[in-house]
This record gives sequence, structure tokens and C-alpha cells, in this order.
Amino acid sequence: MGEQVLAAVRTAPRTTELREYPLPDVPDDAALLQVEVAGICGTDVKMYSRPPFRDPVIMGHENVGVIAHAGARFQERHGLRDGDRVFVEHYVGCFRCEWCHQGEYRHCEATDWRTNPDARRYGYTSAENPYHLWGGFSQYMYLPWNAVIHRVPAGVSAELAGLVTPLSNGIEWALFAAGVGYGASVLIQGPGQQGLSQVVACKQAGASCIIVTGTARDSARLELARALGADHVIDVEEGDALAQVRDVTGGKGVDFVLDCTAGAGVAPVLLGIDALKRREGTLLIQGELAAFPDFPVKKVTEKAVTIKSARGHSYRACELALEQLASGRFPLERLSTHRFGLGDVDRAIRYLGGETDDDVIHISLMPWSEQVAGGGAAR
Ligand SMILES: [Zn+2]
Ligand SMILES: [Zn+2]
Repeated sequence: MGEQVLAAVRTAPRTTELREYPLPDVPDDAALLQVEVAGICGTDVKMYSRPPFRDPVIMGHENVGVIAHAGARFQERHGLRDGDRVFVEHYVGCFRCEWCHQGEYRHCEATDWRTNPDARRYGYTSAENPYHLWGGFSQYMYLPWNAVIHRVPAGVSAELAGLVTPLSNGIEWALFAAGVGYGASVLIQGPGQQGLSQVVACKQAGASCIIVTGTARDSARLELARALGADHVIDVEEGDALAQVRDVTGGKGVDFVLDCTAGAGVAPVLLGIDALKRREGTLLIQGELAAFPDFPVKKVTEKAVTIKSARGHSYRACELALEQLASGRFPLERLSTHRFGLGDVDRAIRYLGGETDDDVIHISLMPWSEQVAGGGAAR
């Protein structure tokens, strides 16, 4: 074909270069995605400043686009045709192992870059691998036979579909992992895209008391948390957060704590343990800290706390997220605050990491956007 594809490539810590790759010859069982939106999340901020390996990587793991060219066997296998708008999961499972057979391909070693140097995962895989186009910060992305693809319902824009990943994580962590349901009381720590998505999932599932914490610089996000269904918001820097949680729960504490903070150290977990009800509460934690000095294991066991890990999303969570977006029941479009073009990947990641005074929630990287030099607020 001879055509070239423009991609933003991470070449070193906090360094991005625009590079061209040949448009790949697509085998019969594969396809090419024209990327419309690649969402940026906190993981990108971490991976950008501390890449796990040295190879050049096209980042972008929350990808929405249109099937540009699909081989005949790919069309048959996936039931998709050229022009269909889809959300592509970042996992690329083997579909032979035990996990894949259970539908839990997010645990498959073929897509786990932590233990498998040859893993395929969009946004994490070396661009030196065959077909090169393994991330969404690119005009096109390569879809092998084993890409996991969801059709985007009619009426859901590409930008809105760009929220599937945070929203599916909200559904997965709050509802499937932690078990939030009807009548539950929940403390959600951190009002970023992840925390706000948990608010929506908990509200939809029937939680009766949703409390969201943030800091002084989160005032716009905390206001959005209320618009999405939070019953109480707390500025943890102002007054005694634990006393406020006890106050709004009639002295009992909450059934569930979901930690969606970034860079806050051990404080959210310590507050979470104290804020849980007297017995059998559930705490959902992130893997941000390598170690936890003086972890209060005695208090955790005496309160009979269940600890769950925030770990990706399942197929069902993605489908439910797409349904939620299509329903229009929550003003989720308000999460999409910024758009950037391909030339502004570096700035976009820094914005999400807080290197701006803007109220950033979710950033849509739009590889075909004209905003290659400008970028900025979506509204
Ligand atoms: Zn992400
Ligand atoms: Zn597998």
C-alpha cells in the first residue's frame, strides 16, 4: 500500500516523538482500526514518567475507533464490517488458557507485560513488534484475530465511548469486586475520572449513601460528583474527614471504601480502614504503593475487613459501561473535559498528571484532530 501512519511514540521517560510507520498489510484474520479517541488515565501518567522497559511504545490503551479495513475471516469471527464504531479493550488474550476459557482474559499471561516480555497489550507493547501499531496514540491501530472488541451502540459518540474504560473499571471494582449493591453506604476517595465512575456505578446499583472525598483543588470535581449522584462530599484537608463520615452514617461508618486517589500515600487506606463499619466492611485498594510501612493489620483483622484489589475490567463490565453511556441517565459527557491532537501527547499526559491549573477529568486524545498544536478544553 505504501501509505504511512503517524504515531506518537514514547521513546524515553517523559519523552514523545512523532514517528511514521508503514500501514501494515492486514492478514485475512485481522483488521485495521482508524483511531478516533484514545483516552488518557492515571496509568499513562505513571508509565510515561517511569516506563517499564526501554523499547519505543505507542501508548494509548483506552481506544475507540472505526474499522477501516477488516479481513474476511476477521469479519466472520467478530461480526464486524468496515465502518463499524468499536471500543477495543487493551487486553489481547491467547484464548487457549484457563483464564481465557473462563472469559477472564484480563488475567491471561499472553497480555501480562509484568511477567511476559512478549505480551501484547495496547498501549504497553513495543512498537518494534510485528505490525508496530499497538497503541491508540496513532492514526491507526492493528487488530489481530484475538483483539477483544465491543460494538459501540448507535447514538454514542466516539468521545463518549472513550469513557468506557474508566466506567467499566467503576462497574468492575465497585460492583463485581467489592460487591456494592442496593442500600449500601460507600466512601469513594478521589474525585478523578475513576472515582466519578465509581459514583455512577454505585448510584446505578442502588447505594443509599455515597460519600466522595477530595481536596481543595478538587472543588469542580466534587461538584460534578454531586451531579452524578454523590450524597455527601468531603474536603479531606478541611476538618476531620473521619468525623464527617461517621456523622453522615449515624456513627456507624460505611460498608465499602473504594480508593481512587493518586499520589496520596498511605493516608487514604488508613482513613478507609477507620471509616469502615465496626465489622465486615470491604476495602478496595490500588497498587500504587510498593510497600506499606506500619500497616495496621491488627485493626484490619479485628474489624474483619475484606481487602479487594482494583484490577482492570471484564467483558461484561465493558458491555454494561456502553449500555450506561447509551442510556443517557447520567451526565457522563461532563467527564470529558479536554481534547488534544497527536502532536500534543506529551502535554496531554502532563495535564492529566496535574501540571496545569485547569480542572482536568478525562482527556480525549484525537489522532485525526486539527488541534495538533493547540489542544485544550473541550467546552
Ligand atoms: Zn487507563
Ligand atoms: Zn489466555
